[in-house]
Amino acid sequence: MIVDFVFRGKTIINGRVVDSTIIIDNGVIIGVHGPSYPIKSEVELNYSSRASIIALPGAIDLHTHLRGLRLSYKEDEYTGTRAAAKGGFTVVVDMPNTLPPVNNKASALMKLEELSKNAIVDYGLYLGVPENSEEVYKLLELRDEIIGFKVYPQDYNKKTLAEVFEEAKKNNLLIIVHAEEPSLIKENPIPGYRWLTRTIEAELYAIERMGRIANKVGFPKIHITHITSSYAAHLAKMYGFSFDTAPHYLLLNSNTEKEKKALAKVNPPLRPEPIRFALLENFKGGIIDAIATDHAPHTLEEKCKPFKDAPAGIPGLETTIPLLLTMFHRGWISLSTLSKVISEVPAEIIGLNNAGKIAPGYIGNLTIVDLSREFIVKPEDFESKAKHTPFEKFKCRGKPIGSIVRGRIVYLDGEFHADRGYGINITKYHKYYKEG
Ligand SMILES: [Zn+2]
Repeated sequence: MIVDFVFRGKTIINGRVVDSTIIIDNGVIIGVHGPSYPIKSEVELNYSSRASIIALPGAIDLHTHLRGLRLSYKEDEYTGTRAAAKGGFTVVVDMPNTLPPVNNKASALMKLEELSKNAIVDYGLYLGVPENSEEVYKLLELRDEIIGFKVYPQDYNKKTLAEVFEEAKKNNLLIIVHAEEPSLIKENPIPGYRWLTRTIEAELYAIERMGRIANKVGFPKIHITHITSSYAAHLAKMYGFSFDTAPHYLLLNSNTEKEKKALAKVNPPLRPEPIRFALLENFKGGIIDAIATDHAPHTLEEKCKPFKDAPAGIPGLETTIPLLLTMFHRGWISLSTLSKVISEVPAEIIGLNNAGKIAPGYIGNLTIVDLSREFIVKPEDFESKAKHTPFEKFKCRGKPIGSIVRGRIVYLDGEFHADRGYGINITKYHKYYKEG
């Protein structure tokens, strides 16, 4: 028997680094064995003699803005998924706040087509909250092709929001929330002080408000994305919501915004040091469910506008895993926690029951990292169209070197091996698994 793909080298099984042979055929992991297990394959990656190289379960980004459509000048489904593959992500879930917004059936179909034609890693899609009930029901015709609905602050007062919660519950779709209460948000033109007018109270109030709506309709699955404070983490937990944060809330504070100005402008804003510190302590203590990139690309030109006019958002696909590996080297998290927060738990949150682990029957996605590779973050080297980051010049230790998607090398050591359109919609994983 000749299988499609074999990885030989280190991996993590039950939290321990072990020598292994991982066998993938027809897109699915069919065996995980000891180091010299005899098997023939079309493609073999052999890192048996490289102690610093480890295969982790393929990373899944819960929160990506691939942009595209009329925002393709910022990023598109091809460049964004190349950035994902290079950054070690095998799956991205795309956000609907593009132009036109993906909150009606016509633009949703357009978006799904662009993803299917251009993505080089696998993808999911969240829809936006529509303006009227009729559109909610039209969108639900796409229930089998989407992951759920994204709720932005500007959606909190829409009459359709309760309906969207109710339908999410009925159809087992995820509600993913940007938690900032709109009536408590005021813009602040002074770099370093946005946190004073987009406060943690706005974040907490928003979570509480989601709790109230959810309570009325019988609690759909709710995920609070990019939380910025320990308070928010605990409040979300109390409601039974899952939550993630992004590396910039763990590693940067409002002083970075003062210093780097719009390059560090992001919503919700970076917090003062004590808040960041507490959140990081929570992360080290294992109470943060997941890490997402909130990859939010804008052109460098847009980010160089005066602070108050520049758009908010930080590109994160190519920095997140190196930053997490650096945290591992600092002794803050274990490799097993790292792979949980970027793979296992994200898979659970979006309802993929055969992804996020390296075990027989699971989808054949791997993120291969080199723990010893040191490098300095240089945004000019990004695959993303957004060639900037507040992490510029940050010294990282540990780098993703390969992304394997359904048993195929998509990216390895600086080279791309998959064409536009290789990526599939992750809502097909279940079917794929049965076929495989
Ligand atoms: Zn976002």
